[in-house]
Amino acid sequence: MGLFDRIKKAFSAEPEKETPVEQDQAIPETPVESDATPVESQTPAETAAAEKTETDEPASLATEDDSETVSPLDTPTAAPVNSEPEPEPEPEPEPEPEPEPEPVEASAVTEESDAIEEVPETEAVTGDMQAAETKKYDDGLEKSRLTFGQRLNALFANFRSVDEAFFDDVEEMLIEADVGYETAMKIADELRDEVKLRNVKKPEAVSQAIVEKLVDLYGQEGQAEDNQLHFAPQGELTVFLFVGVNGAGKTTSIGKFAHQLEKAGKKVLLAAGDTFRAGAIEQLQEWGRRDNVPVVASAAGSDPASVVYDAVKRAKEEQFDILLVDTAGRLQNNVNLMKELEKVKRIITREVPAAPQEVLLVLDATTGQNALVQAKQFKQMTDVTGIILTKLDGSAKGGIVLAVRTELHLPVKMVGLGEQMNDLQLFDPNRFVYGLFKDIIVGDGPQKTTDTDVSQAIK
Ligand code: GDP
Repeated sequence: MGLFDRIKKAFSAEPEKETPVEQDQAIPETPVESDATPVESQTPAETAAAEKTETDEPASLATEDDSETVSPLDTPTAAPVNSEPEPEPEPEPEPEPEPEPEPVEASAVTEESDAIEEVPETEAVTGDMQAAETKKYDDGLEKSRLTFGQRLNALFANFRSVDEAFFDDVEEMLIEADVGYETAMKIADELRDEVKLRNVKKPEAVSQAIVEKLVDLYGQEGQAEDNQLHFAPQGELTVFLFVGVNGAGKTTSIGKFAHQLEKAGKKVLLAAGDTFRAGAIEQLQEWGRRDNVPVVASAAGSDPASVVYDAVKRAKEEQFDILLVDTAGRLQNNVNLMKELEKVKRIITREVPAAPQEVLLVLDATTGQNALVQAKQFKQMTDVTGIILTKLDGSAKGGIVLAVRTELHLPVKMVGLGEQMNDLQLFDPNRFVYGLFKDIIVGDGPQKTTDTDVSQAIK
C-alpha cells in the first residue's frame, strides 16, 4: 500500500475500531489503556524531555549510534503511519503528579462529543492532543493547500482531453507548486502511463491520480530518511548548531526551541555565535531573557569561534543538557564565512567529540526554489544533518518539502508553522502531507472527518 492510501486510511472518517490496521502501516497498538498520565504538552521538547526523564531506558528511541532520538509521534499514543520502523513498546511512564492537560483548541472539540465521552478519559485527552497537533499542521499549511487547490482548478479550467498539451500543463503546474523539477517530470511521466493503462479521463480522477503519485513518490523516497533529532545520551552535553542565511529564522527557531526545552525541564544554554549581523547578539539575549535561559555572548565583531569555545566550556562545567549555537547568516558562496563555520564546528567537536549532534540548516519556506539552491550549496560546504523549514504559515510553497526530500536527500527535522512558541514543531511527514493535500486525500465524498475523528483514526 502506498503512502497516499495509508494516509487516507489513517485520516479518513471511517471508524478506527472497525478499520483493520495492516502490518506495513507500522501503526503500533495504542497503549492508551495504561493509567499513565499523558505528557503535559505536545511540544517536541516536552515530548523529548518526558521520554528522557520518565523512562530510564527509552528503548524505542535507541539508534545505532546509541544517541537518543525524538519523534513527534513517540508519545504513549503515538501512531506513525509511515514506513519507518515500528517503535518497540515503551516502559510505562511514571504518573506525574497533578496532570494538567494542555487546553485543547476549541475547534478540536466537535459536536460529536458524545462519542468522546464514551472513551476512557486518558484516551480522550491524548486524542485531543493529537487532534491539536494535526490542527497545527492544518492551519500552518492552509495557504499552501489552498494555492495548490487553485492551481489544480486552473489546470482543469480549460480542460478538454488528456493529451500531450495537458501533460505539459501538469508539469508546469507542479513546478510552480515548488515540488521540484525532477518530481514534476516524474509525476507527469507516471501519469502518462497511468492514463494509458487505466484510461483515466475524468478531471477528478486525474487530479486524484496526480496527488496520489506525488504522495507515493514522497513516501518511497523517504523510506531511509531519518527525520528525528538526535540528542546525546542522558547526562552528556548535546550541542545543536544552527546555520543558514540571514533572515531565514535561525535566532527565532533557537528562541522557540529553547523555550520548549526549558519548559520541559532541560538545562539550556545559548551561544550568540552571530557576531557579524548588527543586533543579532541582542536579539538572542532578548530570547534568553524571555525563555529564562542564559546566553554566552561577546562584543559584536568578535571571533565567533571564541564565543562558542566559552559556551562549550561553561556548558560542560555547569552541566547543561543542551547548548544551542547561533551562527552568522552567511551567503552560501562566501568562502570565508563558510571556513569560519567549519572552525566553529571543529572547536565544538574538539571539546565534545560526539558533538554537534545536529547541524541544522534553517530555510525560509517562502523563498521556494531559492531555499533549495541554498541548501545544495550549504550541503557541499558543511555536514548538514537536517533542515528546519520556517515560515510555512506565511508561505504558499509548502510543496518545497517534497523537493527537499526527492532532490536534496536531506531530512526535514523541524517546521515553523506559526508565530507562537509551540508552532515550531518536530517534523511529522504524514501530518505534513495530509495538511498539504487533505482536500484531495479525503475529499472524495462529504467531509465527515472532524479533528477529533482524525485523532481517533490515527491512534
Ligand atoms: P535569522 O537572521 O536567521 O536569525 O532570522 P530571524 O530569527 O531573525 O527571523 C527573521 C524573521 O522571520 C523574524 O521576523 C521572525 O519573526 C520570522 N520568523 C521566523 N520563523 C518564523 C515562522 O516559522 N513563521 C513566521 N510567520 N515567521 C517566522
